[in-house]
Amino acid sequence: MINLRNGIALIGPIGPIALILSSLLFSVQSSYDLVILNGRVIDPESKTDAIRNLGISNGTIKAISTGKLSGRNVIDARGLVVSPGFIDLHQHGQNEENNRFKAMDGVTTSLELEVGTGDVDAWYTQREQKSLINYGVSIGHIGARMKAMREAPVALVPSGPAAHKAATEAEIIEMKQTLEHGLKRGAVAVGFGIQYTPSASRWEILEMFRVAERFGASCHVHMRHAGVKEPGSSIQALEELIAAAAITGAPLHVVHVQSTGGPATPKLLQMIIEAKSRNLDVTTECYPYIAGMTDIKSALFDEGWQDVFGIDYKDLQWAATGERLTKETFNEYRKTGGMVAVFSMTEEIVAAAIKSPVTMIASDGILERGKGHPRTAGTYSRILGQYVREQRALTLMDALTKITLMPAKRLERRVPSMKNKGRIRLGADADLTIFDAQTIIDKSTFQEPAKYSEGIRFVIVNGVSVVKDGQPQSNIYPGRAVRAPFN
Ligand SMILES: [Zn+2]
Repeated sequence: MINLRNGIALIGPIGPIALILSSLLFSVQSSYDLVILNGRVIDPESKTDAIRNLGISNGTIKAISTGKLSGRNVIDARGLVVSPGFIDLHQHGQNEENNRFKAMDGVTTSLELEVGTGDVDAWYTQREQKSLINYGVSIGHIGARMKAMREAPVALVPSGPAAHKAATEAEIIEMKQTLEHGLKRGAVAVGFGIQYTPSASRWEILEMFRVAERFGASCHVHMRHAGVKEPGSSIQALEELIAAAAITGAPLHVVHVQSTGGPATPKLLQMIIEAKSRNLDVTTECYPYIAGMTDIKSALFDEGWQDVFGIDYKDLQWAATGERLTKETFNEYRKTGGMVAVFSMTEEIVAAAIKSPVTMIASDGILERGKGHPRTAGTYSRILGQYVREQRALTLMDALTKITLMPAKRLERRVPSMKNKGRIRLGADADLTIFDAQTIIDKSTFQEPAKYSEGIRFVIVNGVSVVKDGQPQSNIYPGRAVRAPFN
């Protein structure tokens, strides 16, 4: 009470003193958990590109200022870009090994939305309090189909009845129930890999889209066909999906448009732009490499794959050893299974996809004990180093839009918490990536896929530094679940 009376007494002739006192008090109170000083803050939503100081407390951005801020921890970001943390909509590897490589490539939120899972609760439970970065999953049509067909999940994608058997009415009903249950338990989206389940009828896919629509979930789809050869081209496959989106009203997200499209990619992008102009909710993504990677046992390598991709045995590289394949080694490995890189694209196609205003960037990554595709560890640094700095194929603002804001917006209708990601604004989650735009570059290659990118200096997940001075931090798990509300 005394303080209050004194406070009131100060109003009047000595008002300016009160003002000084209260601003002193304010600066003491406003000591943040973490401050990031003098960085070039780039926010694609507000189009901010300016030197600012950030104050972070309790995992949230609390101050964005040109004035001085103080905090218990300080990062001097002079000369560095401070961006919203990168959001990867397509990352299969979701364990400690993969998370470390993602963080070192600037990723703060890593989502498995294409293949997804068949059991949403179990998937999230496995990662609770154990994740370096934010994580989330879709309920997958592949998983639902494997469950309905009683195929054991031995690999990421099926090679038994779930790939090759037409579904009965009862099996389609069971798949719909699996999707529904997953969505009720907060799955972020619905995933599809139709090329891996070629026996799934068009009606079966429509039935799955109908379920997605009821939950406002986007359908993240690996299309039924690749390449340009008719019938069965990627153009026909995209027609199926745009039709499904129009018929059912479900939002559509076409995954890795460039690796499925190959030479047809510019036409696919045109179709997506046209569909959007008809008010259909259609989006897409690509990754910056001329080869894809998948399981050699999968349906992608069923009879006739050479014609589909326009390639031969020599264009396949065995991930475990780096050797190029022959007819003999192909047949041998096809029996055992394993990951194989598929060199089916050109630099021109990849650059055209990256430059398109409708593409987001997503990695499609997975590493297993250091083996896999370089996209896991290098996608984002490669975009910022090779395509922004070296080739000037797109501006830094446009590139960051494709890897932060666009993926956040894709999901926020179903997952409202995504409105607090992909942005640097007051109240947003303190997921931030701080990098040197002059030196950032990918180091992973097809020979050595498990190499950290360079130039990522600090990565902050919910206010906690998971990369410090370019070094990955261990034994900290600030990652949180990205999950839709239960209903
Ligand atoms: Zn795929």
